[in-house]
Amino acid sequence: KAKASGDRYLFYTQKMTASVAAKLTLENQLRQALDKEEFVLHYQPKVSLGSGQLTSAEALIRWNDPRTGLVPPGKFIPILEETGLIYEVGRWALRKALQDYLRWRAAGLAAVRIAVNMSPMQLRHRGFIAEIEQAIGVDAHAAGGLELEITESLIMEDVKHSIASLQAIRAMGVSIAIDDFGTGFSSLSYLAKLPVDTLKIDRSFVIEMTTGPQGLALVSTIINLAHSLKLKVVAEGVETEEQSRLLQVLNCDEMQGYLFSEPVSREVFEARFLAASPK
Ligand code: C2E
Ligand code: CA
Ligand code: CA
Ligand code: CA
Repeated sequence: KAKASGDRYLFYTQKMTASVAAKLTLENQLRQALDKEEFVLHYQPKVSLGSGQLTSAEALIRWNDPRTGLVPPGKFIPILEETGLIYEVGRWALRKALQDYLRWRAAGLAAVRIAVNMSPMQLRHRGFIAEIEQAIGVDAHAAGGLELEITESLIMEDVKHSIASLQAIRAMGVSIAIDDFGTGFSSLSYLAKLPVDTLKIDRSFVIEMTTGPQGLALVSTIINLAHSLKLKVVAEGVETEEQSRLLQVLNCDEMQGYLFSEPVSREVFEARFLAASPK
């Protein structure tokens, strides 16, 4: 009997060791990826539902693994967060996105804004405000064109601290969007207190607009509430003409999703969207 449980113990340790080893390997690969500059930013356009014009580009990170090709962020962001590498990669993404944005401006391409995703850990980090300040530098355009996307769940975790940080960021002229709105536990009473500019409705609500009985009413309520708080509303994950049409009827400001475009490489974004758009 004792032997059987001993075997089981051994079995579990072997399994655990294997997964720990796999994680360590991935961690090392990610460290190297940072050194070798294998991370890339793809951009997905947001467009105005009123005019159809391009308004903004959201930077979405990928890892260009030479062995396997592009790896989506869902596969490596959690490891970056676990290991603390997210600070360095996050800093890189912010600087890279701003650099692309300023190049677009200097080249006289369309005046879009640039949106960068922030990990919950970054906002909580002591040096974060100073880092943004440094990345922006003295360029007033950089601050005015930059939008940070921060998930709702993070803000709600520590509302007091979040409000103070968000205020400091906005004081620089940078705008703030609440990402994945509706998926967290936010109480609506907090929304009025948050120093934010934009609310991004999560894709799950966009889907339910046409599939669930209360979906349409829910999205309508979110949009009206946001507007009453003077917030801009962006719907994410818009894939169908029907969704786009309904969002337009509901007075949603902007949309983003495969219907208009998937995220594309910087080169494709420039050729397809910036060169063609009026300034
Ligand atoms: P997110 O910020 O909510 O980004 C939207 C995700 O939905 C993106 O996935 C995008 O490619 C995808 N998407 C856009 N339109 C559609 C659509 O119409 N249908 C469907 N099914 N999907 C759509 P992606 O690029 O894999 O990014 C996943 C998440 O990774 C992002 O979610 C964001 O939370 C995180 N992320 C991406 N880049 C960064 C980054 O630089 N830093 C940090 N901290 N997180 C990032
Ligand atoms: Ca986002
Ligand atoms: Ca989102
Ligand atoms: Ca989402």
